[in-house]
Amino acid sequence: MINQITLKELSFGYDDSLGLVLKNISLDFPKSGFTSIVGPNGSGKSTLLKLISGVLKSRQGSIQINGIDNMAIHKKEAAKIMSVVPQNTALEFDYKVMDVVLMGRYPYISRLRGETPKDREIAIENMKYTNTYHFRERSFNQLSGGERQRVILAQALTQQPKILLLDEPISHLDLQHQIEIMSLIKKLSIDQQLTVIAVLHDLNIAAAYSDYIVMMKDGEINSQGTPVEALNVQNIKNVFNIDVEVEVSVYTNKPYIYAITRNEIKKNHVKVHVICGGGSGSEIISNLYNTGFQVSAGVLSIGDLDWKISKDLDLKLAEDIPFTRISEDAYEANKRLAEAADFIVLTDLYIGKANLCNLRMLLENELENKTIFILGDETFEQRDITEGAATGFYNRIKSKKNTRIVSRDEMYSILNKAGASNE
Ligand code: ADP
Ligand code: MG
Repeated sequence: MINQITLKELSFGYDDSLGLVLKNISLDFPKSGFTSIVGPNGSGKSTLLKLISGVLKSRQGSIQINGIDNMAIHKKEAAKIMSVVPQNTALEFDYKVMDVVLMGRYPYISRLRGETPKDREIAIENMKYTNTYHFRERSFNQLSGGERQRVILAQALTQQPKILLLDEPISHLDLQHQIEIMSLIKKLSIDQQLTVIAVLHDLNIAAAYSDYIVMMKDGEINSQGTPVEALNVQNIKNVFNIDVEVEVSVYTNKPYIYAITRNEIKKNHVKVHVICGGGSGSEIISNLYNTGFQVSAGVLSIGDLDWKISKDLDLKLAEDIPFTRISEDAYEANKRLAEAADFIVLTDLYIGKANLCNLRMLLENELENKTIFILGDETFEQRDITEGAATGFYNRIKSKKNTRIVSRDEMYSILNKAGASNE
């Protein structure tokens, strides 16, 4: 069994005057497992699903199901391969639940023969599986959203498809029923080896249940891959234009996405350069950034904690390879950032031979009149791992006329005053 859906240079527009809704999409869907299609409203997800299921026809490009153009497959044959759970499951006419599920047998029922005991058996089996059998005699339109969704799923399964297409199957359900339906679909993909392709709007639900994610934007595929590959900070920013944090579980390697609800930052023009490393600057950097300062940092080792936060915030940064002595280029970059700043902060970082020149830099003539805040003066000796080489530099920095030994609170208070008068 292959269950392969392949899109080749597929384009589609509803109306020539309205432009293309899908633009030259080529994609091999995974042959098995659970694939989610995500993307903003209007990005073309439902349209794509309708093209695959044959509800819509495209004049540009092709869709192949197991190597055969989907337009060349007879409707009944296609229904034996694929079934569809559409977004809106209300029925125009009211039917008994049992009859709704039995409709799933239509690709197998001929007009002459009618439905057989075997058809009923299959319907009943799927009703039991989806926990809908006990209300088989009730009228479909009187069921709750979650119950209806399960009935439609029973119907889709009764079609005995190889591929199940779902369009936002849980969007109208409460959390408990969302999880119930998602778990059921996941179970199907495993127990019955159904290839599942679902449009989902909740990225965390998509991440939790999917083996593969296709992310769409403006009728194109923006990214695809495993949940960790596709749902990273940058892709989500590109597609949804929101800032998020992504935490990847060490147990499951699944990402969890948090929207960053940061109040709109009121920017000021005060530039602060932070000399830090090893996490000594992270809190300061994020506090200053979030209160509107223009923050830069250096020289930071690539991969270091302070480096990561600086990168996340897209700060100006002097960086270098870890575990090596700071290069001339990085030194110069750091010096330029310090020169451009209104204030320099020297955090309570560890000083080793590798980053010793961060201290030396503070003695450069060009920085003669800069205000330098020194934090953690009382712990300097413990942090000097240069066997004293740093002490000379450090004492000279301390003796400069614009150096101030401060606590963090004192520093924030001075900076905030400067920031407030310079918005
Ligand atoms: P999604 O499912 O990702 O929200 P859709 O595939 O429903 O997106 O819609 C993609 C684009 O096509 C949207 O701009 C939408 O307005 C348009 N569209 C959807 N259905 C129709 C239709 N029947 N006629 C004209 N335009 C449509
Ligand atoms: Mg849609």
